[in-house]
Order: sequence, then C-alpha cells, then structure tokens
Amino acid sequence: MPKIHVVSHPLIQHKLTQARRKETGAPAFRHLIREIAILLAYEATRDLALAQVEIETPVASMVAPVLAGKSPCLVSILRAGNGMLDGMLDVLPDARVGHVGLYRDPKTLEAVEYYCKLPDDIATRDALVLDPMLATGHSAVAAVRRVLAAGAKSIRYVCILAAPEGVAELNKHCPDVAIYAAALDSHLNDHGYIVPGLGDAGDRIFGTK
Ligand code: URA
Repeated sequence: MPKIHVVSHPLIQHKLTQARRKETGAPAFRHLIREIAILLAYEATRDLALAQVEIETPVASMVAPVLAGKSPCLVSILRAGNGMLDGMLDVLPDARVGHVGLYRDPKTLEAVEYYCKLPDDIATRDALVLDPMLATGHSAVAAVRRVLAAGAKSIRYVCILAAPEGVAELNKHCPDVAIYAAALDSHLNDHGYIVPGLGDAGDRIFGTK
C-alpha cells in the first residue's frame, strides 16, 4: 500500500486540471503551480507544533496560539521546485530556504547532484522538500538523503503529482518521510514521465520549450 496524503480539496483538483491541460501557457501554469503549492502547504503543515503567547487585541488581552520553535526550512529541488517556492513562502514567510540541484541522467534516469546549499541550522528545523513531480523517486530519495544527513528534525515531501513508482521508491528508502500530493497518477512511461501527468514541469514553469 503506497503511503501518501492525496489532498483532494476541490480548489486543488480544479487548479490541477487547468495545469494539466496542454494548452495552458507558461504564465498561467506558473501561477497555478504557485496557488496549488499554497493550498498544499495548508495540509503539509497541519501538525506543526503551536505555543501559547499572551497578546493584546484592540479589545482585550488573551492567550493565543503561534507556531512554536523555529520556522520550517523549505528545500527546493532545482529547478522545478522553485515553481512551488514562492507560494510556500507566501504562507510561511519566515521559512528558511535550501536548494538541491539534481538532474536526471537521460539514460539511467538516476539523479546526479550538481548543487547543494542548505541553511547551517537546518538541524533545528522541520524541512519541507519541494518538487512538483515525484516520478521515479530517484531525485526525491537523493534530495531527502541530503536533508537527512544535514540533520533536519523532520522531513515532509510536497509535490503536485506523484507516480506509484516514485511513491514506492521514497516509501522504501525514506519510510519516515510523509508525502503530500495533489494527485497520484497512473504510471510512468518509458521516458520516466508521469501518465497522464502534465508534461515537463520545469519547461512549463519557465517556458523553456
Ligand atoms: N518530471 C517532469 O517534469 N514531468 C514528469 O512527468 C516526470 C518528471
């Protein structure tokens, strides 16, 4: 049984369908990915700890909840993860940001790292790893291993679309990582693309094809 939280909220599902359409151009696609990221953030941060603080409203004093401890760290898997970053930062403005650069070897489909910069104090923070497409799971596992090695307190993986193959790979190698997605699609094709999917997320976000 794949372990994944599919967030079936109607707004997410509607926006995802618009993003999937092949006629959706780069500006609209980029905006939709940003909006879906905001909505996924809501679910992926549901269990963050709260602390109680005393505040004054214009009317009275009260004890009210705020996020406890240090703000989370968002880790974008380059380059498509950057399409989710601004939306996540809209709702987590104090988050720190790390980047892991990985490309897929076109023959082996294995992840090859070319860049990594994580906050020095990531070990004191919860991490949310971002990549729109959880396909083979190779780059997801490589990125999560990087963040684990850096000592993050907890890791959640947030994507727009997941393939069963990628979920199985991430579940197998990183069983403690919770996965959040807007949809779990059917399968991968011979080129490692998610079917029915939405195509190449990076190209569609940045208009490179
Ligand atoms: N990466 C993408 O951008 N799209 C896919 O379908 C698979 C991996």
